[in-house]
Amino acid sequence: MTARALPGAPAAEALLARARERLAALPGGAHLHVIRLGDDPASVSYVRLKDRKAREVGLRSTVHALPDATPEADLLALIARLNADPAASGILVQLPLPAHVNASRVLRAIDPDKDVDGFHPVNVGGLWSGETRLPPCTPAGVLALLDHYAVPVAGKRAVIVGRSNIVGKPLAAMLLARDATVTVAHSRTPDLSAVTRAADILFAAVGRAHLITPAHVRSGATVIDVGVNRHAVADEPPRLVGDVHPDVRSVAGALTPVPGGVGPMTVAQLLMNTVTAAHHHAHP
Ligand code: NDP
Repeated sequence: MTARALPGAPAAEALLARARERLAALPGGAHLHVIRLGDDPASVSYVRLKDRKAREVGLRSTVHALPDATPEADLLALIARLNADPAASGILVQLPLPAHVNASRVLRAIDPDKDVDGFHPVNVGGLWSGETRLPPCTPAGVLALLDHYAVPVAGKRAVIVGRSNIVGKPLAAMLLARDATVTVAHSRTPDLSAVTRAADILFAAVGRAHLITPAHVRSGATVIDVGVNRHAVADEPPRLVGDVHPDVRSVAGALTPVPGGVGPMTVAQLLMNTVTAAHHHAHP
């Protein structure tokens, strides 16, 4: 068996088309503000991509690139200014933040109605109780990808490897809301492959190159690879690989590629969230 590929690009385009349609119904448009501290190369490239895609969709986009040593008080003052600005639809603070900044305090300072990353505790609570309008982008993008390819979720056994606040936990909440039976595994899970082999849909959100091998996957399962890892083999330059070993293709029924799988969905969902936030502001 060779797994069916589930590329992100067509699913992301469909999501962006919906975002464009909803944007057209907003006379004032929508404006995304992304705040970045320092020059971490991965953060610089993620922020550049978000800014470029936002403009392509027709959003206004402003990147606030601040020095690494920016005092937390200055960052909080910028967030307060954007919270109070009716023209600012969405605010995103790119993570990770430098060690001198308390990330949790910063995320809590963002107006929950402008929190397009969905990380504010109000939105996290809302996610678990079924009330949030702004779901975290990666898990929501993963669900949109499954929907695009008509992969059923209700009644299925879903296993998530990884329990972070940005991927694993919110993905568990969303899958539960969609009537999957959900198991969350992590670094303290004994006999991981016995757990993952029970999955109809297996989600790898770990950050370990090729951790998931054919031995972890039930024949015909759908495998969603969220991982993005810089992987160097021998003398070759490092390249981006997922958490899932390429040999899984011979066992799985369907598999997302890395790069080009979940990544584009995350950005598309961010832009959708920005349009949603702008709609809410226009029609509270
Ligand atoms: P974190 O480092 O925050 O979490 C990793 C999780 O994996 C933890 O829960 C950890 O367990 C678990 N884990 C670590 N080692 C093992 C192991 N050997 N067996 C089982 N579980 C293990 O990572 P993130 O959730 O932030 O990101 C995960 C991956 O997804 C990364 O590669 C990241 O780059 C990628 N990512 C991709 C995005 C995209 O758009 N494509 C967006 C966001 C992230 P424990 O809790 O016990 O420590």
